[in-house]
Amino acid sequence: MARPLCWRFLLIHLTLILSTSLLFATESHEEQEQDTPITRFQSYLRIKTAHPEPDYSSAVSFLKSLAHSIGIQSQTLEFSPGKPVLLLTWPGSNPSLPSLLFNSHLDSVPAEPSKWVHPPFSAVRTSDGKIFARGAQDDKCIAMQYLEAIRNLKQKKFVPTRTIHISYVPDEEIGGVDGAAKFAASKEFRDLNVGFVLDEGQASPGDEFRVFYADRIPWHMKIKAKGQPGHGSRMYDNSAMENLMKSCELVSRFRESHFDVVKAGIAANSEVISINPVYVKAGVPSPTGFVMNVQPSEAEAGFDLRLTPTTDPDELKRRIAEEWAPATRNMSYEIKETGPIRDNMGRPLMTATNDSNPWWLVFKQAITSAGEKLAKPEILSSTTDARYMRQTGVPVLGFSPMKNTPILLHDHNEHLQDTVYMSGIKVYESVISSLSSFTEASD
Ligand SMILES: [Zn+2]
Repeated sequence: MARPLCWRFLLIHLTLILSTSLLFATESHEEQEQDTPITRFQSYLRIKTAHPEPDYSSAVSFLKSLAHSIGIQSQTLEFSPGKPVLLLTWPGSNPSLPSLLFNSHLDSVPAEPSKWVHPPFSAVRTSDGKIFARGAQDDKCIAMQYLEAIRNLKQKKFVPTRTIHISYVPDEEIGGVDGAAKFAASKEFRDLNVGFVLDEGQASPGDEFRVFYADRIPWHMKIKAKGQPGHGSRMYDNSAMENLMKSCELVSRFRESHFDVVKAGIAANSEVISINPVYVKAGVPSPTGFVMNVQPSEAEAGFDLRLTPTTDPDELKRRIAEEWAPATRNMSYEIKETGPIRDNMGRPLMTATNDSNPWWLVFKQAITSAGEKLAKPEILSSTTDARYMRQTGVPVLGFSPMKNTPILLHDHNEHLQDTVYMSGIKVYESVISSLSSFTEASD
């Protein structure tokens, strides 16, 4: 008796499993076929744009065909082979006014699929509305929201006064040297006569959107010490290790003095210079590790330094040369600067967020009109392509409309809530229409 019952039970179960999976299959199939802002976002997220081999050509053709479908002009520029810059343009009724530029990058950082709950380029939307993908926050969301906002504005028969451009640039995640740096320095960029730029920002775990008016500037610093090698038992002055350790102590004190300001709540992390040791290289190798009775003749340490926009680079270099790596202690140093420190007029790379900047006032008002709030403007701890645009002297704000969202850029399981994505489109509708209708700024 037990056996037939058991079979029947199994059969019912199998039928249930089959029908459930069929149901899910149908649902996801339908979702695929519908053409909605969410499915278009998912399609863009599925393009494999992660380094080291970002598929720029698929990303560009996808965005281009989307732009054409809503009547937006496009041109593809190439400042480095295989590294396209896609430029979209919605001409304004008064093209002599300075234009607006909305920038985003095409590339993404790599992901480790084994650490993700859904494959990083699957763009799976869970039943609670989370869309999982590498790039969902950084920064494919804004790339698509710009276009969706324009689509909606066009449907509402909105006519911009200022010309609106959208740029999609390569290589931001590897420093932007062959991307935004070349684009911002080009004749093509100058010809756009850009008055104001919006670039990417970051998610906000709170209720207010974050906005960034400057980036910190990274320097990679190596300090090296040389000295007399000697027996491990001997005490003598000026060994390579002793000199390097003295420097590390001084660097450590400098680091603490800045970190204390942050710990005391006087400044944000991004408002002070940070310096962190990233490697130490020394010792005489042996088959089992290091020779323990030899003091080496060379020692080296590497540091990640982040300058605030108002740091005096000459003053810092003097400190490095005189205190951290002085020739008098047989030391030398190398600094790799990874981008500009001042704009073309010699000013710090900062965009004013006060009454002196009319663009800021219009932007802020547009956020309020969309029923949203902005947090106190911040300096970004890391860097974006915004620095290359600021270098030209144009005001640039970093902004990605993601509130009540965990900060997951470059993290495992990067995702964005569908409702957050959709409300971001509305925010850009307000921002784009306000900025493009604003005619008072003379430059
Ligand atoms: Zn980014």
